[in-house]
Amino acid sequence: MNNILLETQGLTKTYGRRDVVSDVNIKVRRGSIYGLIGKNGAGKTTIMKMIAGMTKPTSGSYDYVDFEGGNKAAFAKIGTLIEIPAIMPSMSAYDNLKLKALAYGCYDDSSIREKLKLVSLDNTGKKKARAFSLGMKQRLGIALALIGDPEVLILDEPINGLDPEGIAEVRNTLARLNEEKGITIIISSHILAELAKLATDYAIIDNGRIIEESTREELELKSRGKLVIKCADSAKAMEVLKAAGYSKLEAADPRTINVYEEGEVGPDMNMKICNAGIMVYSFAFETADLEEYFLRTVSGADKEVV
Ligand code: ATP
Repeated sequence: MNNILLETQGLTKTYGRRDVVSDVNIKVRRGSIYGLIGKNGAGKTTIMKMIAGMTKPTSGSYDYVDFEGGNKAAFAKIGTLIEIPAIMPSMSAYDNLKLKALAYGCYDDSSIREKLKLVSLDNTGKKKARAFSLGMKQRLGIALALIGDPEVLILDEPINGLDPEGIAEVRNTLARLNEEKGITIIISSHILAELAKLATDYAIIDNGRIIEESTREELELKSRGKLVIKCADSAKAMEVLKAAGYSKLEAADPRTINVYEEGEVGPDMNMKICNAGIMVYSFAFETADLEEYFLRTVSGADKEVV
């Protein structure tokens, strides 16, 4: 287990009378790629702005515990891409980076060339940023965030609106930055499947609250699918299964039960339902995709899954 880099305690942001972020407690490990997943308006940007020091929490706190010198020291080592990247459209990729580096007092030709290579923009020459594809602009935004050689990157929806090729390029760039440079990445998206294979840790956020925090392994396990039971009377069969101690069940229709229990529960459930005199037509395992899992999780409160 890597060191915890950042920990938040009860992080809350209120605009007017509305808590747009409520009681957020997350732990980000150094070297991880931490994905914040939530629908539009869930509060991802607001969380990122708080932990990047761009806006103050109304209550609660956050600590970059793995930085000597605490939050102040951390801010100097955080690169951000939040909302629209500050790109000068009439300049080349190189000149965009040079301008920011000069402003930061750290201009160095070889360092800029290295950053362009890291984001695969090293062959764009004099081409002006205005002629870049959306994916290239996003990667230029990431390169700009790398000025100052950050240890942490906070990236708000960097793959939003990109085509599959653009998504793959940004994903490869981020994986490279994480692996080769050891940069911890905190990244948001409204599409869980887009961050799959990239993020090592996930927090699902809904209405400003974290409703689930899991590692990649835990998420894979949880989103692995469901057992679908077709029987003569799903309501009666649900009663039998609940009486036997099963709780992760959902009556999909009068003849169908979805089961989200872990482990080899099929044979025991089959026997219990049959013993209760209810005809079982079929047992089938259906794999879920990540999006289905995400939607089920964020709407979990109003479903029968317990
Ligand atoms: P999106 O992907 O749409 O940006 P998000 O998950 O990043 O969504 P936030 O941008 O954090 O969500 O916004 C959360 C809620 O807070 C939204 O309802 C938004 O309208 C509101 N909000 C954000 N900033 C402000 C502000 N400065 N003043 C008032 N309300 C705000």
